[in-house]
Amino acid sequence: MSKSLYQDALKTFSRAADLMNLDPGVRKFLERPQRSLIVEFPVIMDDGRTEMFTGYRVQHNTARGPAKGGVRYHPNVTLDEVQTLAFWMTWKCALLNLPYGGGKGGIKVDPSKLSVRELERLSRRYFSELHKFVGPQKDIPAPDVNTNAQVMAWYLDTYSMNEGRTVLGVVTGKPVEVGGSTGRNEATGRGVAVCTAEACKMTGKDISEATVAVQGFGNVGSFSAKILQDDYKAKIVAVSDVSAAYYDPNGLDIDDLIAYRDQNHGLIDGYPKAQRLDREEIFGLDVDILIPAALEKSITIENASEIKAKLIVEGANGPVTTEAEKILLSNGILVVPDILANAGGVTVSYFEWVQDLQSFFWDLEEIRSKLKKMMLRAFSEVWYTMKDYDTDMRTAAYIVAIKKVAEVVKLRGIYP
Ligand code: NAD
Repeated sequence: MSKSLYQDALKTFSRAADLMNLDPGVRKFLERPQRSLIVEFPVIMDDGRTEMFTGYRVQHNTARGPAKGGVRYHPNVTLDEVQTLAFWMTWKCALLNLPYGGGKGGIKVDPSKLSVRELERLSRRYFSELHKFVGPQKDIPAPDVNTNAQVMAWYLDTYSMNEGRTVLGVVTGKPVEVGGSTGRNEATGRGVAVCTAEACKMTGKDISEATVAVQGFGNVGSFSAKILQDDYKAKIVAVSDVSAAYYDPNGLDIDDLIAYRDQNHGLIDGYPKAQRLDREEIFGLDVDILIPAALEKSITIENASEIKAKLIVEGANGPVTTEAEKILLSNGILVVPDILANAGGVTVSYFEWVQDLQSFFWDLEEIRSKLKKMMLRAFSEVWYTMKDYDTDMRTAAYIVAIKKVAEVVKLRGIYP
């Protein structure tokens, strides 16, 4: 259990719960994931063999509304990881005032080893196994690492076939043609950019003078970099992904790097117009802002003391370990926590669900302006809670979020 991600995540919860004197009964309730489903299911492969796969869906807490959270396809997915991601979703949704609880799902699989047809059969069977567990008023999945709009379209179709009618609100992150929302693709990166700019404003730093390094160049990393460059005029000097890192002190051309990646199987490896670095060198660069946007546990006690950036904005979920954060804070680094910084994705997912339920769709301008307003409100609530409690930004974000869930639990009471 010592390596459990969930146990590590609980440390932050406990710190906030202690500071805010959380009711002990509510505390016990919120510490545990409410429902965890494990499914073992067969898929017929292209060569006729039957393979077994393991999938999970966890609803951490549904006091505020249906569970909400992505589904991850990765060979290292575990129940502990999915429970932790669902736990974080509870706080993220509450922080943004979304009428949702926290959920998450995953399949233990390396999707790069599957053909498109195998991936479709895997996705459809997994979603059939979840049928009774999910629904627009129960639990609404979305994309996460290695799942995308196409996978959501298969989920939607599978659920709809089993129900005998089209149910758009059962998943978000769908293609725009089948009930998806404009602005969903860029939403997490846009939220990261809004938080980065606001953190600069609050600390008296001019973002148009700031240099930025981004770890991870998938959905979150690339949109964060692009929006920070295009809308806020920040200089993105370094970017890394699983294959390599590239550096240009005069600023990388992010559109060009995205175009290169899209032609190069999703990887930046071999990019000819900047200096190549080792993947891990991204952390030690002399930059103002670092955006970890890859996977969990990227910043650890091994590399935390190398970091020179004075501002870290967590694009990924859980990229900084608890032990590493102590080092960062003692070095005077401001860390904008994941449950705030990357909440743009779930916020536009919420807009998508609302649009699906109303069968009335908004334009991009409306999505962007509503998103910005909600992110700035949450940022400000966290910022002033940090000052009031004289604590760090992550603990403050948890205090804000836990208060919102705890109030609902108290009002609803414990059943029966
Ligand atoms: P993605 O699969 O699109 O991108 C992941 C990126 O990380 C890829 O570029 C990959 O090459 C890179 N990467 C993997 N290992 C790396 C390593 N060791 N060093 C450097 N780069 C590495 O995934 P995504 O959707 O961008 O998600 C990234 C993170 O953000 C995850 O933690 C996810 O849970 C979180 N997140 C995503 C969203 C969303 O809307 N997509 C919303 C909230 C949080």
